Amino acid sequence: MPAAAHFYPQGAELQRKNYIGRKVNKTELHIEPKAFDLEKIRRDFPILGLQVHGKPLCYLDNAATTQKPQAVIDSLVQYYSSMNANIHRGVHHLSEVSTKAFEDARIKVKSFINASSEKEIIFTRGTTESINLVANSFLRGRFEDGDEVIITGMEHHSNIVPWQLFDSIKKIKLRIVPVDDNGELILDDFEKMINEKTKLVSVVYVSNSLGTINPVEKIISAAHKHNVPVLLDAAQAIQHIPVDVRKLDCDFLAFSGHKIYGPTGIGILYGKEKLLDELPPFLGGGDMISKVTFNGTTFNQLPYKFEAGTSNIADAIALGTAIDYVAGIGIDAISSHETEILEYASAKVAEVPGLKIIGTAKNKSSVLSFIFDNIHPHDVGTFLDFEGIAVRTGHHCTQPIMDRFCIPATTRASFAMYNTKEEVDILVRGLKKITEVFN
Ligand code: PMP
Repeated sequence: MPAAAHFYPQGAELQRKNYIGRKVNKTELHIEPKAFDLEKIRRDFPILGLQVHGKPLCYLDNAATTQKPQAVIDSLVQYYSSMNANIHRGVHHLSEVSTKAFEDARIKVKSFINASSEKEIIFTRGTTESINLVANSFLRGRFEDGDEVIITGMEHHSNIVPWQLFDSIKKIKLRIVPVDDNGELILDDFEKMINEKTKLVSVVYVSNSLGTINPVEKIISAAHKHNVPVLLDAAQAIQHIPVDVRKLDCDFLAFSGHKIYGPTGIGILYGKEKLLDELPPFLGGGDMISKVTFNGTTFNQLPYKFEAGTSNIADAIALGTAIDYVAGIGIDAISSHETEILEYASAKVAEVPGLKIIGTAKNKSSVLSFIFDNIHPHDVGTFLDFEGIAVRTGHHCTQPIMDRFCIPATTRASFAMYNTKEEVDILVRGLKKITEVFN
């Protein structure tokens, strides 16, 4: 028994060390993009062949979640049919295979966002959990009563509520960067908002309700002048534009797997190693410890310090597959295709009588939000559904920006790499029909 008790944790430790910091052959995980072939891409996504209410599915709700290519679906099936085992703790074959696949997925994420080390890549459930992780670690390690966090007027609720949840423990003041009528940040006074109480700037990279791409480089360099770290909510950036954490010099970056053609329930928190090292863990439990006694616990090394309990192994591996898929198409090619679709759609919807676009920033990505004076967005969404068109209606979990525009909701069409100009035409025909019916 004593021998086994010693052998087991050492085995697990060895297994970890094999992966974190190991030298990976550059060509092993490197993927060269192929030519952008829209028809082939569409064939890769089986769900796009569906009929809805007797009409071909026209899926324009990609900001809510993206569809999955066959490779991602296969990856999940393959994991459960040939690899399933718990990771890090086993010394048997299946555990080694699944550990390797899981840690390879981490390396793929690291390469994709150009992080310096796998230690900086934490698997979470998604953007929401990633932001909550930072908020809770700051609560335990850095915040004092009256400290301030700067956010913007266009944040998703997941970058507002976590800071408010501490109210009964510590009072954190939120300072809000205002938004102009086009949906662009008013940054004139941004630097003046930073003071000795400012502990973090936490901003959305691309707005999910307006489509604005925020000038995050400018925000980061201004915050760093005052030694304030910056968290980027990249939930709507990672799938649309190249994201290079070293070039951006952001301190934290959060995104969700399901927005980048991967599964739900898996996401990433990137953090600079030095900061992650300094912060206390968020959740306690198995895998995040080095030694536990009834008197206290020492924590595991990065990234495991922040990954308590059994991870979402299959979905992490499938996220790696999704990243391979995106890298195989090329984020630059995806970005330019989506820009073309957005520009085409923005021009086309202008033909629809009574339609007003909400969010007209110069620098936009893949989101077209709009309203009608006399037709409620929910009626628009329901009507379009009968035409086989999936759009999102509501406040998009961004109620403060709806208040800013004095509207309760918008209809939002959001585009992905597989959308076509024909689908935009279908949307516009549907919208024209609605105005005929309602007027
Ligand atoms: N931030 C933004 C900008 C988003 O669009 C979303 C998802 N709509 C989130 C955060 C939250 O992502 P998740 O629900 O996957 O955690």
